[in-house]
Amino acid sequence: MKIAILSRNTRLYSTRRLVEAARERNHVVRVLDPLRCYVRIAPDNVSIRYKGKALREIDAVIPRIGTTTTFYGTAVLRQLEMMGVYTPNSSDAVLRARDKLRALQILASHGLDMPVTVFGDNPDDTNDVLAMLGEPPHVIKLNEGSQGTGVVLAEKRSASQSVIEAFRGLYANFLVQEFIAEANGSDLRCFVVGKKVIAAMQREASPGDFRANLHRGGSAVKATLSTEEKRIAIRAAGALGLGIAGVDLLRSRRGPLLLEVNASPGLEGIETATGVDVSGHIIRHLEEQAGA
Ligand code: ADP
Repeated sequence: MKIAILSRNTRLYSTRRLVEAARERNHVVRVLDPLRCYVRIAPDNVSIRYKGKALREIDAVIPRIGTTTTFYGTAVLRQLEMMGVYTPNSSDAVLRARDKLRALQILASHGLDMPVTVFGDNPDDTNDVLAMLGEPPHVIKLNEGSQGTGVVLAEKRSASQSVIEAFRGLYANFLVQEFIAEANGSDLRCFVVGKKVIAAMQREASPGDFRANLHRGGSAVKATLSTEEKRIAIRAAGALGLGIAGVDLLRSRRGPLLLEVNASPGLEGIETATGVDVSGHIIRHLEEQAGA
């Protein structure tokens, strides 16, 4: 197959590993910087060019679109879809996952449980919005934050109000959640490829933090998931339309709760913690779906 990887940086671990895995299986693979792709839109002839040359006959694309290039990256991906290129994660699915509120609304409509989440726009409503949530502590999150940045724990209602005011002052969209204390600063990252969880790790926050993100200094070990946890992870990826997803769960008293679903999950942490060849699984999935 001719495989394209949409990624801004060929040196990133995830990009390098996908290239390696594709070559090992005798595919032709090329990394394309989405910001160097440019497109022509017309009813009779859609085309896309890269550094002066037309991109043609690509069988499959793996989008690795960072949070800073969501808009342009998904537009390029959509153009490839219009040209009939197979992608495990469509531009629409990537956009659904990137917007936390939208993703939670879709997941809730599929009956999947999550920390209770509220949002509101007008400062006059803040008190009532927080009342819908219940007693603090609360977790306040930027809607498009990632890797744990913009996730704040507020122990008291006055702290919630100050953080909300600060986010509003910056015109940032945010959501507020019940704090799941019994998760104890750890979460589960379930790596879904197709309709299977192919690897899972438990991440632990560094001492004094409640955020288990590896980018925040957390650590990770291989996890064994219950049948229910696996089922929820697969349903969550399916609800958003993602063929490849990193589904984050919290273990709570009322069962597994969905935190978020990542459409470009990193490969380094999960491959290192579990020893699973996640990149190989992704390439095999492309072969099955787009035909070897
Ligand atoms: P990001 O997209 O920035 O990773 P998350 O929503 O995944 O944001 O939150 C980062 C981390 O903070 C999670 O991995 C988890 O450890 C912790 N966390 C997030 N929300 C809650 C919550 N409602 N209760 C307890 N811990 C939480």
